[in-house]
Amino acid sequence: MPEGPEIRRAADRVAKVLLDRPLTDVAFAADAFPHLQDAADALIGQSVTRIDTRGKAMLMRFSGGLTMYSHNQLYGRWVTAAINEIPLSTRALRVTLGTATHRALLYSASDVALLDEVALSTHPFLARLGPDILDQHLTAGQIVERASSRAFRNRNFVALLLDQNFLAGVGNYLRSEILFAAGINPWSTPKQLTAKQLMAIARQALHTSQRSYRTGGVTNPARRVAEIRRQLRQSGEPHTLENYRFAVFRREAAPCYACRRPIRKVRAASRPLFYCATCQNVDT
Ligand SMILES: [Zn+2]
Repeated sequence: MPEGPEIRRAADRVAKVLLDRPLTDVAFAADAFPHLQDAADALIGQSVTRIDTRGKAMLMRFSGGLTMYSHNQLYGRWVTAAINEIPLSTRALRVTLGTATHRALLYSASDVALLDEVALSTHPFLARLGPDILDQHLTAGQIVERASSRAFRNRNFVALLLDQNFLAGVGNYLRSEILFAAGINPWSTPKQLTAKQLMAIARQALHTSQRSYRTGGVTNPARRVAEIRRQLRQSGEPHTLENYRFAVFRREAAPCYACRRPIRKVRAASRPLFYCATCQNVDT
């Protein structure tokens, strides 16, 4: 499932082709969204004025005042293309937004709505969301405060980091990567941590997510990436993204970059979790 950084990058791509240009082509798949058919016609001639993301949801604002809410769930995917290109996809096309020069196409998403200001401010999913992990104004201190609050302090990080009401935009790969980078036992709770440990996890939640957004999904710090790539060159192994992208995620049994002991994989809160037992003080 795409996480906050992937949704934000998709929003950037869509904004690049749509922003502030009159829409000439708007369509919502009739089978999936019969109730949006009239709205599609009304959006012709309007423009997209802004695209925000809230965790894994995208909010596209139109000049006429409506906002399109979309949540990609597991399979949704945005594709952008020049008007003379026809993207090849076996997925179901759900939303088309086109200008004179480009199209943005949303495939497979089932959760799409057009909201006015009132519906936007009372949307049940958005109303419950925690602060966005990519919000530039969010500070580590605010995350510490939130983690220490009554609602969250007794829940372990395995569950807490997947809870969109705690921090919006953190998903499964970020969970493993943040916990490793902070050196935190995944089954510990905020209440069990020292102030220093809490600050470490809050800082890593911000840094790791922001780095993934900037780099297109690489969570390893730049220095480690350079070192891994140097070793790959020496050994003649391929330089694929998967080979240097993550510190622990999808690296089961491979040596930890810090202590060389094998990375472990378990299912935790119904999703695969990867960790280093030594660096993260997990009893074995
Ligand atoms: Zn280790």
